[in-house]
Amino acid sequence: MRKRKTAGVPVQVYNLGSPAGAQMDFERDELWSRMSAEMGKKAVSLPVFLVNPNQMDMLYPREYRRALDPERIRPLLQEEVEREARERDREGELETRREPQEGEQDLFDRLKRYEEEGWLKYSRVVAVGLYLRMGQHNQQFQDQVLQLGDPNVRTAEAENAFLNHQAPAIFLCCERIVDWASRLGISHHLVMDKVYYHELGHAIMNTLPDGAPNPYLEPWGRTVEESLANAIAYRCFKGKEALWVQRLIQDQPAEYRGYAAAGQLLVSLLDVRFLRDWFREWFHEYDWYWWRRIEYALDRLERGAWHPEVARTLTEVLRNLPMPLTQIMSHKRIDSQNITEWRRFKRRIARAKPWIHQAWKDFANYLLIEGVS
Ligand SMILES: [Zn+2]
Repeated sequence: MRKRKTAGVPVQVYNLGSPAGAQMDFERDELWSRMSAEMGKKAVSLPVFLVNPNQMDMLYPREYRRALDPERIRPLLQEEVEREARERDREGELETRREPQEGEQDLFDRLKRYEEEGWLKYSRVVAVGLYLRMGQHNQQFQDQVLQLGDPNVRTAEAENAFLNHQAPAIFLCCERIVDWASRLGISHHLVMDKVYYHELGHAIMNTLPDGAPNPYLEPWGRTVEESLANAIAYRCFKGKEALWVQRLIQDQPAEYRGYAAAGQLLVSLLDVRFLRDWFREWFHEYDWYWWRRIEYALDRLERGAWHPEVARTLTEVLRNLPMPLTQIMSHKRIDSQNITEWRRFKRRIARAKPWIHQAWKDFANYLLIEGVS
């Protein structure tokens, strides 16, 4: 058996001690032909380490071991939908968005109490892939990871690559990939590809500067990040394969399920000042009905009442009206634009205004509600 199976592709794949790693075939054409240029660029620069479940559990950062069980949080989300509906009804009477009352927790604070039990239920389908920056760990930790590897499949070359790598890398747990595939009765190649693309998605979105607050540690940040990473993975597939990927995502926690909703709403519609100017210019004379709807939506946005209904109105406008500027803004898919915004937000997170944070929380709220319904 060949130890490395990547002679035909310019990608570094190392087996750190996973017996099932021998089944992962990185030379298949379909693995590479589904990738965008952006994803391929990450693939040729990031090494992939194949690990067994014990190694993955050791590598998986403690602070990331959180997950939300859709079954447990659905009642809470339902309450949230009803509360939002009540607030919308009252909005006519109120001038501004209602401030949270003293002692009232927002949805994401209330969700935190479900994170640990969710992890216990979902760790096997979450700790399958990992995108991790190496170099924060000491030599002793790295040695322990290596010792957990099966010596029959671990190579000296792989050990050296692991010990000397300081930059981000992708880890795939091959035993869990094979298990997941056999539970569903599908090819483990499809599961491997989905997991690999998802991790490359995290790499594409890795713009957080060193020392900046990490939104991933909060349920809303995790929801945006994981839903977008799944959106990146999902759009690589077509037809039956895409459907199986959707079935795989159904096994994942609530944070991962907003991948479809992420293509429905533009979070960038939050820049009200810019939007108002160009909407006025293009629509005022052109279409009175639409202008009235847009004006109403923008007024609510400016008062801080951003919510899915408002953004949906604006998204609909952008999509349906054949205007020059509309074309400029909608030449990219909605999920791609949201991914671009998320990268930009993370890059400047330390300086982001409170209302921008709130917009992302509202977006995460929408992803969760749509994702688990
Ligand atoms: Zn992920």
